[in-house]
Amino acid sequence: MEHVVVVGAGLGGLRTVEFLRAEGFSGRIILVGDEPHEPYDRPPLSKQILAGQWPEERAVLHRGGLADLDVSLHLGASAVGVDRAAVELNDGTRLRYDALVVATGVRPRRLPGQPDHPELHVLRTLKDCRGLRDSISRARSLLVVGAGFIGAEVAATARMAGLQVTMLEALPAPFARVLGEQMGQLCARLQTDNGVTVRCGVRLEGFLDTSPGMSRNSNGGIAVRLADGSIVRADCGVVGVGTVVDGGWLAGLEVPTEGGLLCDATGVVEGTGNVYAVGDVAAWRHPTVGDRPRIEHWTSATEQAAVVAQRIAGKQVTRHADVVPYFWSDQYELTLQLVGRCDLATSVEVLHDPGVIRGTVAGYFANGALVAVLAFHAPRLLNRYRKLVATGASEHEVRSTAAELASR
Ligand SMILES: Cc1cc2nc3c(=O)[nH]c(=O)nc-3n(C[C@H](O)[C@H](O)[C@H](O)COP(=O)(O)OP(=O)(O)OC[C@H]3O[C@@H](n4cnc5c(N)ncnc54)[C@H](O)[C@@H]3O)c2cc1C
Repeated sequence: MEHVVVVGAGLGGLRTVEFLRAEGFSGRIILVGDEPHEPYDRPPLSKQILAGQWPEERAVLHRGGLADLDVSLHLGASAVGVDRAAVELNDGTRLRYDALVVATGVRPRRLPGQPDHPELHVLRTLKDCRGLRDSISRARSLLVVGAGFIGAEVAATARMAGLQVTMLEALPAPFARVLGEQMGQLCARLQTDNGVTVRCGVRLEGFLDTSPGMSRNSNGGIAVRLADGSIVRADCGVVGVGTVVDGGWLAGLEVPTEGGLLCDATGVVEGTGNVYAVGDVAAWRHPTVGDRPRIEHWTSATEQAAVVAQRIAGKQVTRHADVVPYFWSDQYELTLQLVGRCDLATSVEVLHDPGVIRGTVAGYFANGALVAVLAFHAPRLLNRYRKLVATGASEHEVRSTAAELASR
């Protein structure tokens, strides 16, 4: 492998380049990114940078420039086509490759009829964050459509800035499908305890005030109509209803892209020999479960990049990705942490119940084995359970551990 092209200059793309050099790869590396910025970190976009607590520069992932990586950068350039030998950019450049790494992430899903309104936002990029931050700084109220992690974190940041916040969710409780209803209710309580109005089980029928006259008026606010006929208004809004893979430019590879790029357990896109995928766009075969989930976690992008770099550099693959996935979310004064795969669970059990949200820990089981643990600001407890998730500990073993930890 002499020429590596990495498309997507975000977390997964940058980490691939860093790991390639760390593995001693001395060939040519080209990094292509459609944003004008050097690779930056996304988690602060819904937290410290949205709140104005951090300067934007603090999100830069590789401090001090990329010169030490000896990488040829094409920023502000989109990959628009690809075949098994080269990538084509929107300025007509053709970049030949021996190995291609697709690290293009995902785009926010839009609702049917979602208007382009200056006060209605999605949140994925620094540009999105700047727009939302400006709106929040002028607004007294925020409408959050979708109580997922992005919506929950934006709600928390806006509440802490003093805005009135209303959150709309179609499910009976936030995350009910993934975390189960009980833990979903706890996530809702974290919001309501902090003054957010949470309306679950609602169906959004459409947006109002989207006429050209209104949408040109940046003070016009936004309004939605719900299926029960009620109307919810706010000065600004954010839609956080999941993500989609934008795979149009990959058509020339003739592989499926809709649910993510299907990869083996070392990141090779199935049906290709020299195309790899990392990060949110990638659906790797899980090493033990055997399915191919698309895991949109910060840690997964980094772990996957390490494996792909070893493969491309011709090293023995000693790294592993996604064996026990890890995700965190900061909301108000709490950090929620999730290890493992609660999507596999058939039952949930509260392992630690201090009577308040902080310190609550739940275990997720499939066929009597621990598959995931969710902790509301209990990092030490979570660390104790991490190993038990990795080994698929039995309910009995998990309960004994919970009793032992509770007695301390
Ligand atoms: C607001 C926010 C908060 C988050 N908070 C957390 C958190 O608290 N904890 C956690 O575990 N995870 C969090 N995440 C998820 C985490 O940031 C992602 O999992 C991670 O960024 C994935 O990295 P990636 O490289 O796959 O994608 P990205 O970081 O999105 O990078 C992909 C890059 O590719 C570019 N691109 C796309 N198409 C093309 C093309 N055709 N040509 C060229 N470039 C292209 C994109 O513009 C982007 O710059 C958060 C995500 C967001 C958006």
